[in-house]
Amino acid sequence: MGLLGTIRKFTEGLAKTRDSILGKVDRIVNAKSKIDRDVLEQLEEVLLGADVGSQTTEILMQNIERRVKEEKYEDSTALHVLLRDEIAKLLHVNGDEKANGILLPEGKRPYVILVVGVNGVGKTTTIGKLAYNYRQAGYRVVIGAADTFRAAANEQLELWAQRAGAEIIQQAPGADPAAVAYDTVSSAVAKNTDVVIIDTAGRLHTKVNLMEELRKIRRVVEKRMPGAPHEVLLVLDAGTGQNGIQQARQFTSAVQVTGLVLTKLDGTAKGGIVLAISHEMQVPVKYIGIGESIDDLQPFDRKAFVDALFNIEHLQN
Ligand code: GDP
Ligand code: GDP
Ligand code: MG
Repeated sequence: MGLLGTIRKFTEGLAKTRDSILGKVDRIVNAKSKIDRDVLEQLEEVLLGADVGSQTTEILMQNIERRVKEEKYEDSTALHVLLRDEIAKLLHVNGDEKANGILLPEGKRPYVILVVGVNGVGKTTTIGKLAYNYRQAGYRVVIGAADTFRAAANEQLELWAQRAGAEIIQQAPGADPAAVAYDTVSSAVAKNTDVVIIDTAGRLHTKVNLMEELRKIRRVVEKRMPGAPHEVLLVLDAGTGQNGIQQARQFTSAVQVTGLVLTKLDGTAKGGIVLAISHEMQVPVKYIGIGESIDDLQPFDRKAFVDALFNIEHLQN
């Protein structure tokens, strides 16, 4: 998909967040033509309301206030542009690695991806979409059904594997998740499969400690293939706000998370969480989920994100 297609997808997926932020900024601008303390405070409220998070909002507001003073902005219509610039800068500072889409690095085959996160955040759906993206890019994909905790998990994953055109390795419900992961990597090695994607369980409150289980899966995968897993993706539901940041802290301290996936951005007006997470976590946002269909996973592109958030047409100045 070219940049235009990406921006269109982002624009659709971020509609609720955009309407919330821009709608409120419009109201501020319409109510008062001059930038003053009161206007700046209202802007701060808008950011907090969109779940941008207090730490990140503070940085944005400091930068905006400084520019208002130094560059002598008076007209409140400048708020849109100031906000967009500062958000773009913030995202830029925090991770300048380019979204390279779905291309795999040379030499690591199979390329093993472990997908973790709590129940219901969208792991299985994301795996289906990810497998589809890799298939579209011409890679051969095998999915490992290491969420052996829920009986229905196998069926759901099988359906996604079918849609994506990927293979699947599974065992009976209740099997050792690490054994499934081991089998999946073994199968990929034997068949020269390009990509392994391992689904995991996400129940937090049972007697078997989830973090222990994930560490064991990791260990067994590494034993089968030194250097693997090459990626550990933590999936977070964008609608859960600051709770998502809590989850991120928990998982990153237990397993070595290499990237974040923020799902369900289409369903929330609080997409500002992307900014909070990009700013506050050391781990980059790699993908965003903006719908339930197979083509609704997008590599996170900072420029497309900001353009979509501010609906370029909105800013013809
Ligand atoms: P898991 O428990 O983490 O494996 O989560 P699932 O993949 O089973 O997803 C839980 C629910 O979230 C399902 O109803 C999905 O359709 C839905 N879902 C996942 N990703 C997205 C997304 O990006 N947008 C929307 N609207 N729904 C999503
Ligand atoms: P344990 O269940 O605590 O003994 O954990 P292990 O680290 O031994 O591995 C868990 C699972 O991964 C095992 O039950 C096996 O299914 C699989 N596994 C680990 N190492 C090997 C191995 O060397 N060969 C095979 N075939 N399977 C392995
Ligand atoms: Mg699942």
